[in-house]
Amino acid sequence: MNHVSELIRCTDFAAIKHKDQRRKDIEATPYINHPIGVAKILTEEAGITDIPVIQAALLHDTVEDTDTSFEELNQHFGPEVCGIVKEVTDDKTLSKMERKQQQINHAPHASYKAKLVKLADKLYNLRDLRRCTPCGWTAERVQEYFVWSSKVVAGLRGTNRKMEDTLDDLFKERDIII
Ligand code: NDP
Ligand code: ZN
Repeated sequence: MNHVSELIRCTDFAAIKHKDQRRKDIEATPYINHPIGVAKILTEEAGITDIPVIQAALLHDTVEDTDTSFEELNQHFGPEVCGIVKEVTDDKTLSKMERKQQQINHAPHASYKAKLVKLADKLYNLRDLRRCTPCGWTAERVQEYFVWSSKVVAGLRGTNRKMEDTLDDLFKERDIII
């Protein structure tokens, strides 16, 4: 199958899986805007042309946030794409606090491809937080999220100059020492 069909198949799969979900912003933006935006950061800003990386970006939240299983991803998109998604998926048996610590601990050990998806994911979410504060979040919670993200990003460095520089600008804007 050609690359365009592969990408459209992933977009369609993710759109169906996330169809009832919304982002946490006040406008309740459709959730699918996020994985599509993460894929766009990789292609337009980071200069990534590796198709399995873009496929994994489109699918990266399907297991974490919907009823999708890794078996399903493996069956539809093969072991490489499934493997990248697995690397960027939190273990839902852990508490939220433990998951946050795991992201910091695991980041340096991730594969190059998973690190790319993770950097783009963090960049998208921090831009989203900068654009508008999610319903019910205090300024302190937003700042804590930026600080935690900077600790995850610390373990992803040396992967993509463009995304790391852009993230660093966002951290500096918040007086976070990197
Ligand atoms: P959450 O993990 O609950 O939410 C952030 C995640 O939501 C992002 O990583 C992103 O994940 C997704 N998301 C959806 N919409 C948006 C958006 N518009 N902008 C940015 N991200 C969005 O948030 P926290 O990390 O703050 O909470 C986790 C921990 O914080 C918990 O332990 C909780 O108990 C605690 N907490 C802290 C408070 C505080 O004031 N400090 C208050 C309440 C709870 P994805 O990439 O998957 O889309
Ligand atoms: Zn995400």
